[in-house]
Amino acid sequence: MSGSSEDRPASIALREVVKRYDDTLALNGVSFSVEPGELFGVIGPDGSGKSTLFRILVTVILPDEGHATVDGLDVVRAYREVRRRVGYMPGRFSLYPDLSVRENLEFFASVFGTTIAAEYDLIAPIYSQIEPFADRRAGALSGGMKQKLALSCALVHRPRVLILDEPTTGVDAVSRVEFWDMLGELRKGGITTLVSTPYMDEAARCDRIALLQNGRLLREPDTPEAVARSFNRSLVRVRAGGQRAALLRDIRAIRAVDGADVFGEWIHATSGGADTAHLAHVVRQALEQSGWEAVHVEPARAGVEDVFMSLMGNSDTVEL
Ligand code: ADP
Repeated sequence: MSGSSEDRPASIALREVVKRYDDTLALNGVSFSVEPGELFGVIGPDGSGKSTLFRILVTVILPDEGHATVDGLDVVRAYREVRRRVGYMPGRFSLYPDLSVRENLEFFASVFGTTIAAEYDLIAPIYSQIEPFADRRAGALSGGMKQKLALSCALVHRPRVLILDEPTTGVDAVSRVEFWDMLGELRKGGITTLVSTPYMDEAARCDRIALLQNGRLLREPDTPEAVARSFNRSLVRVRAGGQRAALLRDIRAIRAVDGADVFGEWIHATSGGADTAHLAHVVRQALEQSGWEAVHVEPARAGVEDVFMSLMGNSDTVEL
């Protein structure tokens, strides 16, 4: 599953890809490979370069430097054939809002010289969920239904590689889970999928993940479990009564703490020097001395997000 295999060519391969927009270096030498049949995630915050990377792979824009192949074909020289072999779901929905569900799908099928009926077996697990609304205007669908239609449209020409740019952004939590379930089903059929997301919790649904920040990979792609295991600092999670922004500030001011960020209801505090028990003790003591009440401090297991934060340096940009 992970690692590169020498006898099977990679489904997607990028070598030192660079892309600039005027003064912005959107991709700063990105290299990785996706193996056939993998569900591979590119995880990164807004502006990290995910869309730029994906647009290069689907031949909408050209790289300034480096090389990329999809299904063994160079994305610059063989762009026409690459377009036939990829199914692309752009970040913003690409559907025609005034066309019905069926008309949208018919349109995408006809562009590739096929029909809904001919491809029905492939799209049925997804399309059947929205088929009862086949006559509804796409613009009148819920976010989750639009997403299912967009995925059906990306699949209808039987692509060998699916490239999905932030398909779950702005979609409700239930639809997000359903969408990842659908990707899991497609994976069983053997299709290669490259998917981007800003949501770290979605990393666990991928075979392997790449962490992207400021146009660079933060580390070698690996399984989500291996990425999480690579966290090599002490980690505690903290909760207390009172305002969270103030709590975060106070935790960051503790000398033994060299990184702290908000993770849902908790604040994660890390230390490269102190062991976990000592870190927990120091944090609790410091907070209680500062007058915090109902202080909970406990050891925590690192996740992908902890690794991301630690690799990108302590971030002040985390939402509170
Ligand atoms: P992401 O998809 O991770 O949000 P993008 O690839 O859209 O990241 O953007 C990467 C960087 O390139 C950002 O700084 C963004 O502002 C910039 N950028 C993206 N598209 C353009 C463009 N067409 N013109 C100028 N800058 C752009």
